[in-house]
Amino acid sequence: MLTTLDTIPEVARIDRVQTTIVDLPFRRLQKFARFEARNQSSLLIRINTSCGAEGIGEAIVPCGPWWSGDSIEAMQITIERYLAPALIGQNPYDIDRLMSELGGLVRDNRFAKAGVEMALMDLVGKLLDVPCQVLLGGMRRDACPVAWPIASGDAARDADEIEAMLASGRASAFKVKMGATRIRDDIVRIERLACAIDGRAGLRVDPNESWTEIEALGALSELARIGVELIEQPLERRAIDASARLAAKSPVPIMIDEGVQTEADTIEVVRKHAAHLISLKLMKAGGMRASKRMADIAEAAGIPLYLGTFLETSLGTAAGLHLGAGVGLLPLGGEIIGPMLLAEDIAANPVSYRNGAAQLPEGPGLGIELDEDRVRRFTRA
Ligand code: MN
Repeated sequence: MLTTLDTIPEVARIDRVQTTIVDLPFRRLQKFARFEARNQSSLLIRINTSCGAEGIGEAIVPCGPWWSGDSIEAMQITIERYLAPALIGQNPYDIDRLMSELGGLVRDNRFAKAGVEMALMDLVGKLLDVPCQVLLGGMRRDACPVAWPIASGDAARDADEIEAMLASGRASAFKVKMGATRIRDDIVRIERLACAIDGRAGLRVDPNESWTEIEALGALSELARIGVELIEQPLERRAIDASARLAAKSPVPIMIDEGVQTEADTIEVVRKHAAHLISLKLMKAGGMRASKRMADIAEAAGIPLYLGTFLETSLGTAAGLHLGAGVGLLPLGGEIIGPMLLAEDIAANPVSYRNGAAQLPEGPGLGIELDEDRVRRFTRA
């Protein structure tokens, strides 16, 4: 039956937007190519309406401003001073118009806008009593296989972690950061990990832009021999032409991440055949809707997608799952493992992991309820 006008809830105006920074400890050190972190900060965004409804989103960066220049503190100021006032008194259902108006007030700052949009999507989902995936076009799958990051650099400890993760059934592949050491040493380490995994799960690598084209060309055949199933962003993010040359020669699929952040970037990657896969991340794209549009462009060109992470809590991870629920081509799943890496999540009902996959939460909006005691405990003073 079609929804008739009188079944659409009465319009609830936005009457409050609040932000809170929480600092959450990781279970263990997380290493990136040029950076390591012991905790993750999340900027919580609550949008309330005159009728008492609340939508909650989060804006997050990968443990610091090294990835995009966005920082948790700058996002808070941008939202409180420039974005929040423009939302007061507005109809939350008009998400396209609201996000476009926010775009006119603040250029770029897609990470902050993604958090605001997540809160709006959660709010509208709750007002309409539907999950966010319905607002994005509906569901093709209710779970996303995930890769666990191997990041200690200590071979014995990594092997133990691989065994524990396989035994728990919470991940179905492993991803290793490369680039912190010389490429030859890195390859020796990857080969050891491949031996430890012994064909029981996929192995992927992510040098986070740290290789030159020549280094990457030299590593391809070794990585193929070891059985690596995916190389993520080996080259500098602007090196789209070089990425296309590499992808044309590579026996291992090349995925682009830092190099594809917007819909316009996606069009360029498609035109130049710059990668075999595209990593979707809500934050870099500016939200779930922009990510879905990137997915649609990629799918129209036959390029498969991957659900990347900036190590979100259950809030952002749920948003990723609602996005991933509807995209057509997701052959390797993704790595939305933030809640598993956090020693303390802020959700009363965290995203669950089983059969090697993150499970789409049920319920309206994002389907995540906050544990307000934990939020208070971890709120930055
Ligand atoms: Mn990446």
